[in-house]
Amino acid sequence: MKDSKDTLEALRAEIERRNPAQPEFHQAVREVLETLAPVFAARPEYADPAVALVERLTEPERQIVFRVPWQDDRGRVHVNRGFRVEFNSALGPYKGGLRFHPSVDIGVVKFLGFEQIFKNALTGLGIGGGKGGSDFDPRGRSDAEVMRFCQSFMTELHRHIGEHTDVPAGDIGVGGREIGYLFGQYRRITNRWEAGVLTGKGAGWGGSAIRPQATGYGSVLFAAEMLKVRGESLDGLSAVVSGSGNVALYTIEKLQQLGANPLTCSDSHGYVVDDKGIDLALLKQVKEVERGRVSEYAQRRGTSARYVQGGRVWDVPADVAFPSATQNELDGQDARTLIASGVKAVSEGANMPTTPQAVRLLQQAGVAFGPGKAANAGGVAVSALEMSQNAARIAWSAERVEEELARIMGAIHAVAYETAERYGAPGDYVTGANIAGFERVADAMLAQGVI
Ligand code: NDP
Repeated sequence: MKDSKDTLEALRAEIERRNPAQPEFHQAVREVLETLAPVFAARPEYADPAVALVERLTEPERQIVFRVPWQDDRGRVHVNRGFRVEFNSALGPYKGGLRFHPSVDIGVVKFLGFEQIFKNALTGLGIGGGKGGSDFDPRGRSDAEVMRFCQSFMTELHRHIGEHTDVPAGDIGVGGREIGYLFGQYRRITNRWEAGVLTGKGAGWGGSAIRPQATGYGSVLFAAEMLKVRGESLDGLSAVVSGSGNVALYTIEKLQQLGANPLTCSDSHGYVVDDKGIDLALLKQVKEVERGRVSEYAQRRGTSARYVQGGRVWDVPADVAFPSATQNELDGQDARTLIASGVKAVSEGANMPTTPQAVRLLQQAGVAFGPGKAANAGGVAVSALEMSQNAARIAWSAERVEEELARIMGAIHAVAYETAERYGAPGDYVTGANIAGFERVADAMLAQGVI
């Protein structure tokens, strides 16, 4: 075991040297490699230096960086940078979202693409891993500006994607509106009705029922599975949720359907705590219809809600926590606060929202911790179901998709749980999810030769 640990440590150091100034990518790689020592010890073929499996797995198959010029409503030209990292296609076409946020750079896209490989493998479906986006900030931009940006972005991206090649979807800053503009431009340039080239499309033009809900619903279903193992349920529990975007809204919705009481939501300016529980219809009106801030929710809600400028949503005591905004939003201090308030479970709706120190503290305290690779895989799983519906030119009912989502989340929980047990780390879903995802991709890569 010591030998495989040393090998992995040397590989990690070399990956960091070759990819300087990409801290999020380093963090994602370190987190995976730290859990692989037992599988390297048990399956020496993975560690054979002659096949360089880890070196290949951590090097994207292709990285595309491009200029995105666009004109604002006053006629001024702006230049953003576009990215698509096609990380691994051993299990199927590259699959993963597009993120539009000022913090996006190549390191962020690589971290997200790397995580996506294992997440997609865990779903059991035939999808590889990729990710993309731009440093464009859609907040405060008019619909016409967002449309012009999306058209310019797709004018380059269309060369690289396709239903059998690479299938993007949404992520931060990319929702139904943006997918619509991107799809329109793809169709115009290629003169093809290729519905399977993007997922997250609208109902009525190739979108799947339940896709907007899938990530948030899945994260709650994963938490329910973790609690079930401990003989508990979400019914009657209070919850803290961060974020107020796609994932957060549908996390709140599913929590309410299962009898829990979500008390909070947030954005990058502050958070809201609502003693009566979040009024989801009002929050959707503010966020989805008016594209406003959570402070406006508090103003309109009445005395039960207050808005805290800045501050940490994790300061609100609750039974379960759902980080659903962005990476590294829950740190060691936040974990201590949650543990002190008696939190039972944390389920990551966002990608890598919990820092490594916070994960360690939560696990040491016996909190059930669902890592994003497993807990937020419901979104990409339903995206894969959207691809299946597109290929067959049919649309499934919402009931059928939701049943499939519940089945897939149950299966992901089971494989992460059982793999952790098999490798001597009972209850450690981080280890279980990393190893189970890794084994599936690694076996496919070994079978397919040196690619
Ligand atoms: P949205 O753009 O719909 O919402 C993002 C939310 O997070 C907003 O409330 C936003 O606030 C907040 N946020 C974003 N960046 C920051 C920041 N730097 N600091 C504080 N708050 C921030 O995105 P999604 O809901 O789609 O995505 C949320 C997370 O879930 C991401 O980590 C994403 O990768 C992950 N995810 C999403 C999936 C999907 O299907 N959409 C699938 C799997 C994972 P503000 O408006 O102020 O920026």
